[in-house]
Amino acid sequence: MRELRYNPLTGQWIMVSAVRKERPWRPGNFCPFCPGSEETGSGWEVLLLPNRFPMLDFKAEKPQNGGFYRKARAIGQCSVMVETPEHNLRDLDDLSHEQMVGVVELWKNVTMELKNNPRVAYLAIFRNKGEEIGVSLTHPHGQLYALPFIPLKARLKIENSRKHYKRFGECLFCRILEEEMKEERAIYENGSFLLFMPFFANWPFEVHIYPRRHIQWLTQLDRGEIEDLADVLRVATATLNALFERQMPYVMNVYQAPFKGTYEFYHLHIEFYPVLRDRDKLKYAAGIELGTWDFTYDGVPEENARKLREACKKAAERGNFRGTCCS
Ligand code: ZN
Ligand code: ZN
Repeated sequence: MRELRYNPLTGQWIMVSAVRKERPWRPGNFCPFCPGSEETGSGWEVLLLPNRFPMLDFKAEKPQNGGFYRKARAIGQCSVMVETPEHNLRDLDDLSHEQMVGVVELWKNVTMELKNNPRVAYLAIFRNKGEEIGVSLTHPHGQLYALPFIPLKARLKIENSRKHYKRFGECLFCRILEEEMKEERAIYENGSFLLFMPFFANWPFEVHIYPRRHIQWLTQLDRGEIEDLADVLRVATATLNALFERQMPYVMNVYQAPFKGTYEFYHLHIEFYPVLRDRDKLKYAAGIELGTWDFTYDGVPEENARKLREACKKAAERGNFRGTCCS
């Protein structure tokens, strides 16, 4: 059983699958992403693997009639992007610059391929890191969901940036970029990207990455921008990991424009949601966050941004960065 169910109250689609319950038991130290198995082979630097228990499948059957409720076929693709053959690396900042460039190229290539598929409406590329948010496989990897619908959060961003564009004749993201560059929340910049804590951060150490150039998809990145994106991603993770001198658990999402239609008012961006508020303290999404989808922020964002700037400088002493930490 695999289907999409529509929530008429919120306008969200829920991906329902019973396939995942059939996950076979695996011996404790078996890693499905390490080279050398039947599935992974060898001789690669980055690897696109099908999710063995996908929520979405291009071969998904048409669901039974839902009566009053709306259902749809769970069409799409779920894949894992293994970022290195080395099992023991901890995060993107442990990858070499060249290896990270390979990861960004993989993101670009999967976008190019799935953008040509008329059945894909939206591509979610994301990374979950840390036991605290339920990651059991520590071998560095990201994931992609090629969705047959546009998710609610993306629809909201699209709607608001479209309105801003109509009203003021400018891209909302380009404007935010311009504003944040002047602010004390700017953390790092290189030739093509800015890393900053947004004015409207939800999580205590939330950081965003915007390309300076007004583009909508990863497919538009040129050679230099791919190099700079690899750089700023390594800086972002190195900064988060230097903050409390421990590995930071987080969720990272890449936001591109949907695949059908024109989105000249939209702007590619990446968001990190780190879940620690202190070295050993987690920020939970609870009553307000889950109940209202609005956030409480304990503290002063600008003070936390200052801590991130300091962490960036600390990380820069160890790493070999292409740009500069803001001061
Ligand atoms: Zn492994
Ligand atoms: Zn823009």
